[in-house]
Amino acid sequence: MAFRDVAGHRALIRLMARAVARGSLPPSLILAGPDGVGKRLVATALAQALNCGEPVRAGDVEGAAGEAAGSLPIDACGRCRACERIAREAHPDVLVLGAENDVAITVDEVRSAIGETRYRPFEGRRRVLVINDADRLVPQAQNALLKTLEEPPASAQFLLVTARSDRLLATVRSRCQRISFGYLGTRELAELLMRRHGYAEATALAAAAAAGGSAGRALQLASGELTAARDAALALLDAVAGSRAAKARLNGARGLLDYKSGGAAGGKARRAELAHRLRALASLLRDVTLLASGADRAALANPDLHDRFAPLARPAAAKWGVTAFAAVEEALEATERNASPKVVADWIACRL
Ligand SMILES: [Zn+2]
Repeated sequence: MAFRDVAGHRALIRLMARAVARGSLPPSLILAGPDGVGKRLVATALAQALNCGEPVRAGDVEGAAGEAAGSLPIDACGRCRACERIAREAHPDVLVLGAENDVAITVDEVRSAIGETRYRPFEGRRRVLVINDADRLVPQAQNALLKTLEEPPASAQFLLVTARSDRLLATVRSRCQRISFGYLGTRELAELLMRRHGYAEATALAAAAAAGGSAGRALQLASGELTAARDAALALLDAVAGSRAAKARLNGARGLLDYKSGGAAGGKARRAELAHRLRALASLLRDVTLLASGADRAALANPDLHDRFAPLARPAAAKWGVTAFAAVEEALEATERNASPKVVADWIACRL
């Protein structure tokens, strides 16, 4: 996974590649931004660019390939022994902490990793320490990092990857340069799904639109949850369009709560499923609004549902769609603030 293979984030990647080429990359970086947008991939690409045995430099490559690869000042080859081992997390100079999900990163792990960064690189040019989900560092571990972040060993590079940088101590944050990742655009995401994961265009576009800019979420959605989420959202739209009666609407909202994970799922998983469905609803509403305003099929995020939308897309629907879209946004925010899924589902059913 070289820089050129990462989807989106072009300005940010160009900045990092330029700094690597000039040897001016700040030694302590926080890669911050939402889950599933490619922060870990960028950390890997950066470790490769720093240690690749045969890096590609701008000007090395001619023609079309040059435009793809050479347009960056420097990039990893992606094929040499160093690149290949970094990708497998098996390179002696590139340490990765926090590989296991949902487990706190302890002070002992951090101390031992810091100890290793003091040595000169075995084979590469830089010792890189990647800390995934750095917000899982216990406070003690963060404190243990402080001094090293302040005066990093000459050949060391620290990459703290996190979606919740506010959970890092202010002292840690102040010693690192922050690189902020945004969400991917719907087009960028859809292209990623088609190119790298072989999805058909309609599925890719629908998953991208419903995923709200996160590639991780889009992949989850494209693999089945999307169909369930869209069906639930469609059922609610049909119920709302068919009746102003509260009872029918509340019945329509049941689908939003029909959990795939079953009754055993915790509150967090249930809220995540509801959020998927609300995002699918937002994506459908956007399409209904577009159709009602006279847009054609090509403009839709869910072109395969065009015929289902047609009866919903009356002229008045354009205005209704905008208000409804805002209500869904509010429902999503409430879900993220840990509101009860049932309350949110009932509320949205009555607001549409
Ligand atoms: Zn390489």
